[in-house]
Amino acid sequence: MIEMQDVWKEYGNGVTALSGVSVRIPQGTFVYVVGPSGAGKSTFIKLMYRQERPTKGHIFVGGFNIERLRERQIPMMRRHVGVVFQDYKLLQQLTVAENVAFALEVIEVSRKMIYKRVNEVLELVGLEDKRNMLPLELSGGEQQRVAIARALVNKPKVVVADEPTGNLDPENSWAILKLLERVNDRGTTIVMATHNRELVNASKKRVIAIEDGRINRDEERGDYGYED
Ligand code: ADP
Ligand code: ADP
Repeated sequence: MIEMQDVWKEYGNGVTALSGVSVRIPQGTFVYVVGPSGAGKSTFIKLMYRQERPTKGHIFVGGFNIERLRERQIPMMRRHVGVVFQDYKLLQQLTVAENVAFALEVIEVSRKMIYKRVNEVLELVGLEDKRNMLPLELSGGEQQRVAIARALVNKPKVVVADEPTGNLDPENSWAILKLLERVNDRGTTIVMATHNRELVNASKKRVIAIEDGRINRDEERGDYGYED
């Protein structure tokens, strides 16, 4: 369950990115976040994993009261909220398996268990054969699948993705969507900000449209709805 209650975000430069956003996203939902550039989509996503803090309002994600978390509680929360970025953000000097293992909660977990869990998620994303390669040896679509494996390795209840197909061609974009849908089928909430009209219109999922810092549309089986 994700809930925002009257959330406002004003950045240090005086820009108001969100103006009184309230929303409820039940556990297990797949929701797209759409809207024009500069509308506040990234801010909406960043608030969910405490990359940014709200100026005002309350945010609950997977049982955490996000805006009240202390600094030292953030790493624990991040293991329950997986994050996927447009530019993958993999560690270039580590192999595929090491990138995924790096994100794993390591307290009192044996190397054997780490190895097993890493292999499980790499199998889920179809990269078990590439586990010893470096990110730069992979295609963009493969790198994003590594990033998704990393986001999933701690079995989070929620995965937030900011333009995860933004750097990918249509074929790879579809593969990433299918993968996220498979994760969603297992009960994980997915919140995906996107400009990908084709994906949104083809899948008839919940669509939250943000415009000028406000939710101006929230539909159960929505369309992309913009000409951009
Ligand atoms: P979107 O993801 O829909 O493009 P953003 O959430 O990135 O929108 O941005 C919303 C508004 O907040 C824009 O006017 C943007 O310039 C501004 N903004 C975003 N991040 C920052 C920041 N770190 N500092 C100041 N202003 C920002
Ligand atoms: P270290 O730097 O501590 O010697 P490694 O570089 O061997 O560790 O690996 C870091 C982590 O990544 C380990 O926990 C290991 O279990 C995992 N790992 C490394 N290679 C693989 C692999 N081929 N398949 C699955 N997991 C791996």
